[in-house]
Amino acid sequence: MDSLAIVGAGAAGAAAAYGLRGADRDVTVFEKSRGVCGRAATRRRGGCHYDYGANYVKPGDGPVADLVRELGEDGLVEIDEPVWTFDGAGEIAPGRENEGAKWTWETGLTQLAKRLFARTDATVRKETRVDSLARTPDGWTLTDTDARRFGEFDDVLLTPPAPQTAELLAATDWADERREALQSAVAGVPYRSIVTAVLHYPFELDREWYGLVNVDDDHDVGWLSREACKDGHVPDGEELLVVQMAPDWSQEQYDTPASEQTAVATNRAADLLDDDRLRDPDWTDTQGWRYALPDEAVPASPVEAAREAGLHVAGDWVAGQARVHAAVESGLAAADRLR
Ligand SMILES: Cc1cc2nc3c(=O)[nH]c(=O)nc-3n(C[C@H](O)[C@H](O)[C@H](O)COP(=O)(O)OP(=O)(O)OC[C@H]3O[C@@H](n4cnc5c(N)ncnc54)[C@H](O)[C@@H]3O)c2cc1C
Repeated sequence: MDSLAIVGAGAAGAAAAYGLRGADRDVTVFEKSRGVCGRAATRRRGGCHYDYGANYVKPGDGPVADLVRELGEDGLVEIDEPVWTFDGAGEIAPGRENEGAKWTWETGLTQLAKRLFARTDATVRKETRVDSLARTPDGWTLTDTDARRFGEFDDVLLTPPAPQTAELLAATDWADERREALQSAVAGVPYRSIVTAVLHYPFELDREWYGLVNVDDDHDVGWLSREACKDGHVPDGEELLVVQMAPDWSQEQYDTPASEQTAVATNRAADLLDDDRLRDPDWTDTQGWRYALPDEAVPASPVEAAREAGLHVAGDWVAGQARVHAAVESGLAAADRLR
């Protein structure tokens, strides 16, 4: 049976494993974190579940919508309230028409990868950070940061964000010009950073909208949303705001201590919503996403050339769209090619 190593258990890696279920493939997934689903991330605290990376998956009418339904509708949550807009002056206005279903699960968006993996026979090795790769006469070997060696594998699929994939390619022992061409193309994919602040309150917030998106790139906040609009996420009588700071602010303040980042996010949220009670959350959480959103797709030709040697890539930066459904589509497309 042919073997495949997938690096990364995010949406793309999970979709690739899912797309290969039932195929004659021995699949091993290597994930550096304790959990799965990467930037589509959920945490649990004080009876709340909150999606502090991607807020939801919005697949439109495409194949990913069918796939989400295939995963079972128990616990699937559709967000009914609309997304409104705000500008640099803090003016809030009703937003665009609802552009289609926005989904998460009662226990959070990580259910996507959990449910995909649960339907496969793949071996998922968590807390295993791949450090380097090598091409041998019989295939590919992977070495992790504890110097453990895995393989040989017939094929390898790399799904970390492009800058991290470029680091892996730089640490790949394969004397072939396709490695260098791929590394340089992947390293060139530009990214925006986002600092996310999570603000919990022991009272409800009565608003008509689920989320507010900034539309003129002239505010320190890029996005603000209410997790209470997602069934199962926040106990009755409470509210949990997810505040994503704008990419420019996040880039400049990335190394500022989290407590200071959160204080700014809290005050900006209170100003924007014109509610002084919001200056005093009873607990908070903060996460920096250095490689949050790729702005371009990697060029196709070095990707295709490396594939011929069994070295594959997938992810939102391969799809060219910083969206969960695009990452899923990219993983499914990789699986189709590997079948
Ligand atoms: C703050 C924020 C908000 C967003 N909002 C939305 C939204 O509302 N809707 C939407 O559709 N999209 C949103 N996105 C984008 C969405 O999260 C991504 O497009 C999608 O999750 C990318 O999936 P992926 O599998 O390509 O990559 P990732 O999710 O990054 O998965 C890559 C995996 O590789 C692992 N990894 C990395 N290096 C190694 C290594 N060396 N060894 C082993 N494992 C490794 C990582 O831990 C990770 O699990 C948002 C992103 C962020 C950061």
